[in-house]
Amino acid sequence: MYETEKTNSFSCASCGGRMIFSPEDQQLKCPYCGALKPFHVARETPNEYDIHFAPLEEDAAWGDATRVVRCDACGAELVLTGETSVKECPFCGSPRVQDGPGKAGIAPESLIAFQLTPKQAKARFRSWLRGRLFAPSAFRKKAAQGHIMGVYLSHWNYIDHAVSAYHGKEGRRYDVQLPVTVTDRDGKQRQETQPQKRTRWEPVTGTVTADFDDLMLDGSERLSEKLLSGVLPYHLSRLVRYSPEYIAGFGCEKPEVNVHEGWTKAQNMVDRRMAVLAREDILQRADEAQVLRLETEHTGARYQLLLLPMYMTAYTHRKRVYHVLVNGENGKVSGEAPVSVWRVLTAVLLTLAFLAGLYWLLVRYTGTNYMMVLFGGAMRGRAG
Ligand SMILES: [Zn+2]
Ligand SMILES: [Zn+2]
Repeated sequence: MYETEKTNSFSCASCGGRMIFSPEDQQLKCPYCGALKPFHVARETPNEYDIHFAPLEEDAAWGDATRVVRCDACGAELVLTGETSVKECPFCGSPRVQDGPGKAGIAPESLIAFQLTPKQAKARFRSWLRGRLFAPSAFRKKAAQGHIMGVYLSHWNYIDHAVSAYHGKEGRRYDVQLPVTVTDRDGKQRQETQPQKRTRWEPVTGTVTADFDDLMLDGSERLSEKLLSGVLPYHLSRLVRYSPEYIAGFGCEKPEVNVHEGWTKAQNMVDRRMAVLAREDILQRADEAQVLRLETEHTGARYQLLLLPMYMTAYTHRKRVYHVLVNGENGKVSGEAPVSVWRVLTAVLLTLAFLAGLYWLLVRYTGTNYMMVLFGGAMRGRAG
């Protein structure tokens, strides 16, 4: 799958410390002495794997000793290498994260490397937090101290060549002349014929084919679509071949949806698309179309596991979990924060007090009672 060096390739030549991936340098960097070590990843096109031979257990292609940790609170699993530690679960904020019995599973094929450093991500997060004026201060304080972790989120990408045989109906429109009674301007009734549209339906069968190479699915559904859409897009042109150096010091989300479950979902996406194609196929020769039955054969179905970089943090406030995401590639922030009723009320009262003060100043310095002008004018308007 990739070229790997010796297993000790992660230790620093100067001090022996374990090196981690540095987004700033796009190289391995020693967190203790700052030494850099470039690594090279073969530039071939990523592979796609036959869906029928997908391993579900340990996959040697991870390339470095991996371990799996599991959050006791929410059940999320992260694949880690080396001594990477997890202080808080990035999905729910719980500190109850322990080494679990699970295996790392299918290794990723390609990824977008982190471009943003953890320091930059924290700065983005803090400025987002400053903008949450109506969040309760306890939440803001807790969030500011919170731990933000770089996690590669897993995505399944499926490739499919679909051949669908369909049964349906094709409809041809024609006009019939029907007698109708019309009343003219003088109130007299007379018989006339008027054209009316009819459709003649005939059974039809056919075959449509299509190739799909980007059936992307989230590896798990722990984060809402709304939250995720706030940090998009990722530039898939930046995908590189997976190499264990990229994940050193970061976590990888272990997909909750396994490769076969994901494939079932992807097939549904294909089927919906094929039904549209079958309809369009009938409409090439007819005015109306109905697809009654569609049987799709998925030939050459293949998969890849992709990793996309995300800095994440989560906290519980009054039994609800709030997430904040910082895209590890483009730096966009998307988050949720509770709203304090008191803070909103205070803001409203302050605004009202300010307006009242302004009004008082106007009356005092211009000597005009604007209330009288406004309402007096309105009354005079009504009287006149
Ligand atoms: Zn070092
Ligand atoms: Zn958790």
